[in-house]
Parts: sequence; C-alpha cells; structure tokens
Amino acid sequence: MAKEKRSNTAVNEHGASMDKIVSLCKRRGFVYPSSEIYGGLSATWDYGPLGVELKKNIQEAWWKEMVRRHDNIVGLDAAIMMHPRTWEASGHVENFSDPLVDCKKCKTRFRADHLEEIRAERNISHPNCPECGGELTEPRQFNLMFTTHMGPVADSGSVIYLRPETAQGIFVNFKNVVDTSRVQIPFGIAQVGKAFRNEITTKNFIFRTCEFEQMEMQYFVKPGTEDELFDEWKAKRMAWYRERLGILPERLRFSEHGPDELAHYAKVAFDIQYLYPFGWQELEGIHSRTDYDLGRHGEYCGKEITYLDPDDNSRYVPYVIETSSGLTRSVLVSLIDAYHEEAVEDETRTVLHFHPDIAPVKVGVFPLVKKDGLAELAQKVELELREDFFTFYDQGGAIGRRYRRMDEIGTPFCVTIDYETKDKHSVTLRFRDSMAQVRVPLAGLSDRIRQEIRAYSRA
Ligand code: ATP
Repeated sequence: MAKEKRSNTAVNEHGASMDKIVSLCKRRGFVYPSSEIYGGLSATWDYGPLGVELKKNIQEAWWKEMVRRHDNIVGLDAAIMMHPRTWEASGHVENFSDPLVDCKKCKTRFRADHLEEIRAERNISHPNCPECGGELTEPRQFNLMFTTHMGPVADSGSVIYLRPETAQGIFVNFKNVVDTSRVQIPFGIAQVGKAFRNEITTKNFIFRTCEFEQMEMQYFVKPGTEDELFDEWKAKRMAWYRERLGILPERLRFSEHGPDELAHYAKVAFDIQYLYPFGWQELEGIHSRTDYDLGRHGEYCGKEITYLDPDDNSRYVPYVIETSSGLTRSVLVSLIDAYHEEAVEDETRTVLHFHPDIAPVKVGVFPLVKKDGLAELAQKVELELREDFFTFYDQGGAIGRRYRRMDEIGTPFCVTIDYETKDKHSVTLRFRDSMAQVRVPLAGLSDRIRQEIRAYSRA
C-alpha cells in the first residue's frame, strides 16, 4: 500500500512540524513505519524502545488518574473479539460508516466529507478527482469495521468484527461488574485497549490510523443527574491534559458538537481539541449518551439491563457519560507539545519538554570521563537508580553532547559523576528545562529526584 505522499511542513511557534516529529520519532526510536522492510503498510505504525515507554507512561498516568484516584471507578480488560450481536445492538453494523467516493480514472478513494478540505489545501476549484482530475463516483457508505472469521468455516455465520471502540466491552459487562464488585451509582468502568477502524483517508502520522489504542471510561449515573456530572467530567478531563500530562493550556480547547454532528441518542457532546501543526482537531470526546447503550443491549440480549438503587429502591436503566481518549493520539500530542527548538550558544537545541511522569527515560547517568574509576562509579550509581527510575547510561563523547542527546528524547534529569563524587560523595544534577546544574549529595539521590518529579511544573 502506498504511504502518505504529502509532506507536512507547517511549523508551530516552537518549531514543531509533522515532518520534524516523524523524523525525530524514527531517528530516536519512538515510532517506525509498520513492516518497513516490505515498504510499509499505510496507516499502521510500530512503537520503538522509547515510544513504547512513552505510550505505557501515558496509559499509566491515565489509569492512576481515573481508577486509583477515584474510589468509584473500577478497571476492565475485555476481549477485542466480541459476539457479533454486540455491534448490531450498538448500531455499528448499521451506522458506523463514512461516505466514500472513487475516482473512475485513477481509482483513488476519498472520504466525501474530506474533499472540500483537500481541495482547499491544494488550491483546486474543480469538482473532479484532486489527484488526476478524473470523474468521481457518487458517495457510497462504507462501513469502517474490520471483519474476520472465527472457527473452521469461513461463511457468513462465522463473521466477527475487530472492535472499533473499547466502550462496548464495558457496556456488556455492566451487570457482571455490579454483581461482583461493591460499586454503587454513580460509578465508572475504565478500560484501555486496541481498536480498529478501516480508515480510508489516513494522514498525519499516528493521528488517524487503522489500528490504535483508546482509554475510555463509562460513568453510569442516575437519570436526571447527568448534566451536572457531565460538566464535572468535562472539567476533570481538561485538567488532566493540562496538569498531569503538562500540555500547554493555550493549545487545548473544547468544541461542542452541533446538531448535525450529534449522534441521535446523544444529549450533549464536547470534544477536547488540540492545536496540531495541521490545525485544531479532536483529542478526546466527552459524551452524554442517555440510556441508549444499556437500553439497546437489554433489547438485543432479550433481558433488560437495569440497576436497583439502594438509596430509594427505584429501578432504572442508568444513563452514561463517556470520556473517550485516544492513547496513540495522546502520544502524538505529547510529542508535538513537548517539542521545542531553542537557540543556545549559537546552536539550536532540540528538546522535548515532557512531563517527567511520561518521559521515557527519567535519568541519564554519565561519568565526566571514563578513566580514574569514574566509569565504574557511574555504573554503580546507575544500577542503584534503576531500581526506581528508567535510566540510561552514556559514557561516549563530550558531556555537552551527551546532555543534548538526552534533551532530544526528553530526559528530565541527568546525573554526572566526577572527581568530587569520589572525594566528597556528591554528584551534579542537571535539569533539562532550565539546563541548570546543582551539586547534590549522592546519598538520598533517588529521593531528591522523586521530589523534583513531584514538584515539576512546566515553566
Ligand atoms: P474522528 O472524527 O477523528 O474520526 P471520532 O469522533 O470517530 O474521531 P471517537 O469515536 O469519539 O472518534 O473516538 C474517541 C477517540 O479515539 C478520539 O478522540 C481519538 O482520540 C481516538 N481515535 C478515534 N479514531 C482514531 C483513529 N483512527 N486513529 C487514532 N485515534 C483514533
């Protein structure tokens, strides 16, 4: 399959463009094109040694925020493959589609609702194919779900879907969770996992891919309380991006779904959008979904799904507030937002200002020089720090170069071992953002770094 052809050079105020992010990700081992040795597979990407750490750290930060910090939210890990009735009940079999048009001449396929944007980008005024000028077909609805077959016979009865969202795994387990854990409404179920969509127009690196990961939470509430709780979740989710992920507030905003975009069952829906180098686009959806989901599953499985409220003995189908964030999209946002090119001593320093909680490597450890036992001492310090942090040991090249290499992957702290370490048992602690260096005792170094992480705020 052909890879994305268009270059993306639009630069934000800190020097980040999609081209630069893609190149840094490849060069330093964050993200690689999938199956690259075969020419790549469009819309799929592989996470390298640093990318997998970044993704895992974001996922853990989200889990800590949602599940650990709320005593009324529990976790779940449902299977990717689900009973096919799930997707009939959810409405995905019938409605989860994009309008597509094909060029009759060059056969390129476009999303009809993206054509206007493509024409504007390329300064095209004609209604024909933006690639070759050929005639386009009328729009046809194309379902985004990937299908496969389960069992030994590949007939229509064995068709199953790769889930296009994680949410349905939560709805179908609502009763299990209520029956087996001590949750009471209002309560939430959180889940992180893979989702698959046969996206036709994929572009912008890992922004929109066919295989991606979501971090979703469904909050079950008593009908009538949903508006207040919706506002609460809207505020909490925005605060998470700003305060826990350290995303610049001026690059985040809410965007409300207008009547055309609003799903027929949704009461109100807001997106949290981020200002990508290619413009404002979605990062997370927050939706007030009424009793549609549990109501439909109750109807399709033949047994109502209700909740008996111990407060007043009433029985009802709970309403749902959903917070649906893209994990892989959050990786992209974290990279773009952290990326800065800064002028330092007649040079350009490229630095990723990751929040230390999500930085792939937390501490770089260097001996000032290799000789006189400093390398051995530095290795010993690094081994001790490893118990608490993801560390990286580097003894190659000038110390300034080693700092720059750590800056480029967003390592918030570096520890340098020198002659004073031998004599006075102290080390140099260097801060990525300010480049300040302070002398600190070797004893208690882990605690000091932990304190710095807790106190971190992006200047
Ligand atoms: P879009 O309008 O961008 O296609 P959507 O409104 O269909 O997205 P939702 O179904 O609300 O998206 O999914 C919730 C979140 O999952 C999105 O905010 C996004 O972060 C993520 N997401 C959805 N589709 C993709 C995809 N193809 N690739 C990567 N992340 C995705």
